[in-house]
Amino acid sequence: MKYEQELTYEALMEKLIFLSKKYEFLKLSYIGTSILSRPIPMITIGESDAKKSVLYVSTHHASENICTCTLVDFIEEYAKMYEDKRSVFGINLSVLYKMRRIHIIPMLNPDGVSYRLEGINDSNPLKERVEKLSNGCDFSHWNANARGVDLNHNYDAYFYDYKEIEKERGICEGASKYSGESPESEPETAALCRFIRYNIDTLCGILTLHSQGEEIYYKSNGTVSPKSELIAKTLSTMTDYKLAQAEDTASYGGLTDWFIKEFSKPSFTLECGKGENPLDIKNAPAIYARIRKALFNFPILF
Ligand SMILES: [Zn+2]
Repeated sequence: MKYEQELTYEALMEKLIFLSKKYEFLKLSYIGTSILSRPIPMITIGESDAKKSVLYVSTHHASENICTCTLVDFIEEYAKMYEDKRSVFGINLSVLYKMRRIHIIPMLNPDGVSYRLEGINDSNPLKERVEKLSNGCDFSHWNANARGVDLNHNYDAYFYDYKEIEKERGICEGASKYSGESPESEPETAALCRFIRYNIDTLCGILTLHSQGEEIYYKSNGTVSPKSELIAKTLSTMTDYKLAQAEDTASYGGLTDWFIKEFSKPSFTLECGKGENPLDIKNAPAIYARIRKALFNFPILF
């Protein structure tokens, strides 16, 4: 679908509430709340007694909010085609719905997105502190959450190794790269980890959307989960994104790293689109077109 502008948190909520009313089989829930008390929404599609499930997560990083649109487009297309009893890429959606649950979190970092799109509100108790961190009031490249923690460095994977790198490079709270006081110190990551642990018996794999680079990461510091290599190759064929290894600071404390390390299950990072973040929202339909085959097929690769 075409977007004239990025989705704000409020616009996302309006859309998800509208879709979950229009299609009663879409279940809207909340995994927790952000620092500034925004409930973090999740849509679940699929029978509750399905034996296998997968998780899609987008927008850990506020400047990569274009990927929120990608997951909203997927929810909408799935719902419409399922209602019409159609197949897509040879997948009968009535069967997919019965056999697999898909949990979709389109915007894990709503506070960061609101800083970027709307600036900082006078009633925000963190205003003074955050304005210092953001070089005045320029939030155009803000990636972190409301108090300057980069959520995709806040998971318990090589966290303390990364602390050494932070010290060496003088990385501290701010727009990006700061990992936080301890693993899962942030309510957004804590909520997501709680959800994952609670659902780990059925949860087979995770797909996390970031931008940009048209690449897929599936290893964590050289560690690969069983089955990952084959699934990664399939995703690469479907998207025409290259398989790559996260480099430098990108391989510490991320959701993909943690899920592989903690559970030895497959997890993938898709770096969507190409250009400089934040990507122009006009690229949203092209990004969705490029990865929709992978989004529909991912649940049946397990
Ligand atoms: Zn990212």
